[in-house]
Amino acid sequence: MHELSVIYPIVRMASKAAVDNNISHVTALRLAVGELHDLQEEWVKKYYERYSKDTPLEGSQLIMRRIPITFKCCKCGHEMSYTHFEFAGVDVICSECGSRENDMISGRELQIEGLEYVSSESSPELQQE
Ligand SMILES: [Zn+2]
Repeated sequence: MHELSVIYPIVRMASKAAVDNNISHVTALRLAVGELHDLQEEWVKKYYERYSKDTPLEGSQLIMRRIPITFKCCKCGHEMSYTHFEFAGVDVICSECGSRENDMISGRELQIEGLEYVSSESSPELQQE
């Protein structure tokens, strides 16, 4: 269950960001996940719920955006995208020019894209500074 080792640091990072920005109640966390990461959304959400307890993230929604694994051909610049499933065991050969030289330009992402939260105007206890 490596979802656990992935989610724990993300929850910590996001809740620290929330605290640093005086956000007391996050409603949603947006996460970009490259298809190279074999993450089961069901488990990710379970762990997220568990670790976000007693943090500003408690009760918030986790929104995952999947980013395809994309290669760019070094010869002609053609781009090819794969899902995690499609990529398993595939030989990456350019479908335009047949070259095997390519760079992976996306698919490794694992980053917080943003927090959605209730604005501090509606939480009067945050206004005294
Ligand atoms: Zn090519």
